[in-house]
Amino acid sequence: MALVQVIPLGGVGEIGKNCTVVREGEDLVLIDCGLSFPDEEMLGVDIVVPDFSYLVEHQTLLRGIFLTHAHEDHVGGLSYLLAQVRAPIYCTEFTEALIRSKLEERLPKDRIDIRRFKPGDIITAGKLSVEPIRLTHSIPENCAMAIRTSQGIMLFTGDFKLDFTPVDGKASNLARIGELGREGVLCLFSDSTNVERPGWGPSERAVTEGLRKVFADAKGRILLTTFASNIHRMQQVYEVAAERGRKVAAVGRRMEQNLDICERLGYVKIPKGTRIRLDEIHNYPDEKLAILTTGSQGEPMSALVQMSKAEYGRLQIRRGDTVIYSARPIPGNEGAIWRTVNRLFDLGANVIYESKTPIHVSGHAYQEELKAMINLTKPFYLAPVHGEPRHQHMYLQIGAEMGHPAHRMFTMKAGVPLCFDDTSAYFGEPVIHGAILIDNGGNSQVSTDVIKDRLTIANEGMIIITVAIDKTKGKIVGDPKLEARAYSGSDKTLDTAFEHVWDHLNALTPTEMKDLLRVKHDIADVAKRLIQKRAGLKPMIVPVIIEI
Ligand SMILES: [Zn+2]
Ligand SMILES: [Zn+2]
Repeated sequence: MALVQVIPLGGVGEIGKNCTVVREGEDLVLIDCGLSFPDEEMLGVDIVVPDFSYLVEHQTLLRGIFLTHAHEDHVGGLSYLLAQVRAPIYCTEFTEALIRSKLEERLPKDRIDIRRFKPGDIITAGKLSVEPIRLTHSIPENCAMAIRTSQGIMLFTGDFKLDFTPVDGKASNLARIGELGREGVLCLFSDSTNVERPGWGPSERAVTEGLRKVFADAKGRILLTTFASNIHRMQQVYEVAAERGRKVAAVGRRMEQNLDICERLGYVKIPKGTRIRLDEIHNYPDEKLAILTTGSQGEPMSALVQMSKAEYGRLQIRRGDTVIYSARPIPGNEGAIWRTVNRLFDLGANVIYESKTPIHVSGHAYQEELKAMINLTKPFYLAPVHGEPRHQHMYLQIGAEMGHPAHRMFTMKAGVPLCFDDTSAYFGEPVIHGAILIDNGGNSQVSTDVIKDRLTIANEGMIIITVAIDKTKGKIVGDPKLEARAYSGSDKTLDTAFEHVWDHLNALTPTEMKDLLRVKHDIADVAKRLIQKRAGLKPMIVPVIIEI
């Protein structure tokens, strides 16, 4: 039987940019194609996507891209991949509704080939077949993926929680998962994000109670911020608002767009007369209003962040407003979120970001739910994904406690194939992998060298030394110049550095002086050494030679 490889291009050892290849011979499918957000050191970087070189190289073998759900960490890399590779996308009607307009904004129409599936369909992809299975999460129409290979079933849980009272009433198909378990799951690739949380996570339904309480206490307007894709949360807000006779307006382009599509398709059911347009809010008293807004992650261009800076023309925060944060902070965004929260308090709003009755619950399985999944599927091999190394480690500890043998558990690493042959599973040779950093303008040329330079300038400053040289005579023309930017050392150090560079250049012979590259390196070395010694700083030194 053929060798089967599972190759994560992202999404393991990290939370974000989920993107996993399953390959058997000449057939290859991709599960999800997500993005992640930059850490604090990636100056000027907007988003991060996986390095798609492996897929570009093997694009003729790619039978399809299968999407588990419409969260950005699972779909946000699609437009960058599809700019380089042609392949059909398979997803649910809901996922299509959320991604299509974004893809059409960035790609020519002929590169977008979306084919819909329903949970339970079986899609043939070369020698492989893919079966999406409904699992609950924090977004509608979320699916696990069971991939049949000649070695056995690979079960990818995707993101999940076991919620028996989901907002849309569509329960997980645990019966089907159990059937696959009886048939034999070769490897379970399980969500591990919330493995540190003991017990069983609360149902999404618990949020309705939390919202009821906040709505009952609020005297003035209520603003609620969540992800633009959190259709269930918006549904809950409309229901609770209707109970209290409040009208609801939505702000933020993506949120309004998603609501329009989801109302049309029936994924959100808004009580009659509850939804109003933002420009209609002036017709109602404060205590009869609720407003849904984007900006839960402190995104600078979002409506809520602009409101917090009193820069949003369409709506101003005022004393008496209640602002509810109904979203988990994505790691890395905390600073921006707290700054926004503080500004909102300054403007007189009461901000609720935590409460005894939950105003937000996680969409990921807690420990007992993860154990239930292992128990249902009884996998031969176990490999946690969608987690940082500490989550993967703890998940495997739980696996061991449940009696899973150590040699049948794997800690996946990005780019390293987990290979399955007739008798064993083992790690193969790494493929090309990594992260592509994309800046605010959509440029993907932000290399690690660029980031290194930006950090150097940000932390240590920059010094530019300009020298004009007559190349035929090997002589300096005029006086060299030294300019410092963002540099925190003393002027005296700079003067001394300048004198040293000047002395060094004067000691060069005309032949040496004609070697402009050497002169450039000499200037940088002399200045660098002196400044480090005197000021303990390592600014970026930029020697500029003007050839006369
Ligand atoms: Zn998700
Ligand atoms: Zn996810």
